[in-house]
Amino acid sequence: MRVLTTAALSMAALITSPIPAAAPARVHQDATAPKPDPHKIEKLADNIYCIFGEGGNIGLIVTDKNAILIDDQFERLVPGLLKVVKSVTDKPIKYLINTHHHGDHVGGNIALEKQVQVIVAHANVRHRMELEQAKLEPAKRGGLPEITFGDHDPKVRSVLGINLDGVELHLAHFGPGHTDGDVIIGLPSTHVMHMGDIFFNGLTPYIDLSSGGNLAGMIANLDGVLSFLPEDSKVIPGHGPVGGKKEVARSRDFLKAVQKHIEANPTKTGKELDESFDHKAWSDIHDLPPFLAWDRFFDIAAGRAPKK
Ligand SMILES: [Zn+2]
Repeated sequence: MRVLTTAALSMAALITSPIPAAAPARVHQDATAPKPDPHKIEKLADNIYCIFGEGGNIGLIVTDKNAILIDDQFERLVPGLLKVVKSVTDKPIKYLINTHHHGDHVGGNIALEKQVQVIVAHANVRHRMELEQAKLEPAKRGGLPEITFGDHDPKVRSVLGINLDGVELHLAHFGPGHTDGDVIIGLPSTHVMHMGDIFFNGLTPYIDLSSGGNLAGMIANLDGVLSFLPEDSKVIPGHGPVGGKKEVARSRDFLKAVQKHIEANPTKTGKELDESFDHKAWSDIHDLPPFLAWDRFFDIAAGRAPKK
């Protein structure tokens, strides 16, 4: 009550105080000063967390003796990420699982590979990371998944089970979607799932056409997950806030509406598709300019890959 009163008083002071004639100059941030740590952590179940930073969302699972990390965004953010992990557990990170090969999800691999026992991913993730790293100087290469599963043909469905200290994880590849190496990680005992970039919550999803992704595959992946997802699930998206079955279904329905719109207007450009789309019906879905504004999203969804 006392806190409330004080807060109310200071709020009243803020509203009623006249603005000083000579307001003090704003303190400018020192450009060389370190940026504030962007990480936030949300508890989803006993010993299961989602960590939000600047890249893809990160999953953290803590067992009796170990920890498991799902994705690791960017190399430069690894110290801050480890600090957040330490805020909930001192246990060693035994496994690092990658949901796919994009830099905002695997960028921290190189900094983490010395302290985790093994990095796990779909075979196409390792393959694509090797191709990308071949362009780099040898000193900048590393952090490749050591245990891979699945077939190089992305249409082949594959699963890998992990049981660590009694905690069961199911890693599943349901076919091409966002890329050709997407892995969805489920924890059946707690109904928590990390869907990587198959699920963008409340956002237009990016589909990486040049890495084997496609709109129909995204829809098929979402449909597949929805066919068995329990009602009380908590789902970590690649980007956006943690959602549940309702939000996953919304993302699937949105993509189906996009697909229908494209099929009905096969000759329209991305810009024209954007202009004629029923945005009112999907006002909860936001685009991601400048990287992925609506027109580019539609071009990509239609299978065209315009320049960024
Ligand atoms: Zn991605």
